[in-house]
Amino acid sequence: MPNANLPATVARLRAHYEIGATKPVPWRLSQLKALGNLLREGGDELAEALRADLGKAAAESFLTEIDFVGAEVRSLRKHLRSWLRPKRTHTPPYLQPGKSYVLREPLGVVLVIGPFNYPVQLTLAPLAGALACGNAVVVKPSETTSRTSATLARLMREFLDPDAVAVVEGGPEAAAELLEQRFDHVFFTGSSRVGRIVASAAAEHLTPVTLELGGKSPAIVEPGVDLAAAARRIAWGKFMNAGQTCVAPDYVIAVDGTGPELEHHLSEAVREMYGHAPADSPDYARIVDERAFDRLAGFLDEGRLVCGGGHNREERYIAPTVLADVDPKSPVMAEEIFGPILPILSVGTLDEAIEQVLSHEKPLALYAFTAADSTRRRLLTRTSSGAVGFNIPVAHLDVPGLPFGGVGHSGMGAYHGKQSIETFSHAKAVFDKPLMPDTMQVVYPPFTAVKEKIMRKLR
Ligand code: NAD
Repeated sequence: MPNANLPATVARLRAHYEIGATKPVPWRLSQLKALGNLLREGGDELAEALRADLGKAAAESFLTEIDFVGAEVRSLRKHLRSWLRPKRTHTPPYLQPGKSYVLREPLGVVLVIGPFNYPVQLTLAPLAGALACGNAVVVKPSETTSRTSATLARLMREFLDPDAVAVVEGGPEAAAELLEQRFDHVFFTGSSRVGRIVASAAAEHLTPVTLELGGKSPAIVEPGVDLAAAARRIAWGKFMNAGQTCVAPDYVIAVDGTGPELEHHLSEAVREMYGHAPADSPDYARIVDERAFDRLAGFLDEGRLVCGGGHNREERYIAPTVLADVDPKSPVMAEEIFGPILPILSVGTLDEAIEQVLSHEKPLALYAFTAADSTRRRLLTRTSSGAVGFNIPVAHLDVPGLPFGGVGHSGMGAYHGKQSIETFSHAKAVFDKPLMPDTMQVVYPPFTAVKEKIMRKLR
């Protein structure tokens, strides 16, 4: 059923944007402050909703979602004025006198479409960037995590300027209808499949897009590192949110005989973190829905089971699972796993590991556990990925100065901190030259040999 309110909602926000209501920096700062209040006062409710939708532990929800966005909001508030300051740039001699600078101007009305896996972080962090740049924003959270989506909608209506921020709940139909409207930027986080649909719908309006997608992020493990510590970090990054993390290590490539020891340490790490019965651990999340559960359960028979394997459809539970001796051509290696199943491939050399990485599309992140600078250099120059983490997965997201985004099939564009200012604003070039003295005489026809000489010399 078409939603008659959608075009009216977008038109209302656009009218508000066009009267200039969202442009003043004090308004932007007040909205960021309100967003901070939303997170502080609504944090517990959001954590409860995340527990209901995904079985997330409150501590994990605060670490990876609520406080995560809180830090992003604080950083934007703190640096906004300096990040927005016009940037002077050099004016070449033949255009002197004159001054040149770049202004950051808002884009207009921005659409943010979020996924289910970090439904708070991945809607509110882009929202913060878009508001900081003085845009009006429509947010469409994922329908899959419906309790979180409803809580977000209510809190956003309560805390934020309703003339500048609208929340549209609903699934693909609502998103498709929204995409029929003209936006000035579409910021999408989700699967590559839907990313294509979003990009092509946005192209109809020549609307630029940021696509935050997924992929198979490898974790390469070399000999010569503390394998127990490496296993703990891999297990932490993989099994948080039951593996439903876009930057989770998707699979491990064990180089030069590290496999067997790593298998042992990964099993140990899982036991340390979630106990002998992860199903009973309050810290272990659930798979989002039956469809995702069925897809993941199909991978459990591949390779040799190292640990885990237990599952229960009714509770959407899949144990943290490690599989060894996995065939690189098997189904679990053909697509992003996006669940708590960790295959280990064993290879002899770093070159073979690199070949394995290059046989897939460019991932959102590449991780390597290594003690060698030569390995760092080879990986940085021979592979391409949204980000690289040496000796730690996932945590690069928490470094405010690092842009977060993919490359190739893992996405286009980036955000977080200063990068959000670049994403959600236009870099407007301004050149300001006094009319007199008219130093441009030399470039006006008719050209003479003298004029040509001067022109070419000054350039
Ligand atoms: P999804 O692509 O199924 O859905 C994402 C959003 O798109 C939802 O809001 C959904 O309602 C909407 N949508 C679905 N069909 C649509 C259509 N036909 N037209 C327009 N919109 C539509 O993704 P998901 O299952 O929610 O999330 C998992 C995927 O997201 C994984 O691939 C993961 O790697 C990726 N992801 C990426 C990042 C990142 O920052 N790069 C973060 C989290 C998740």
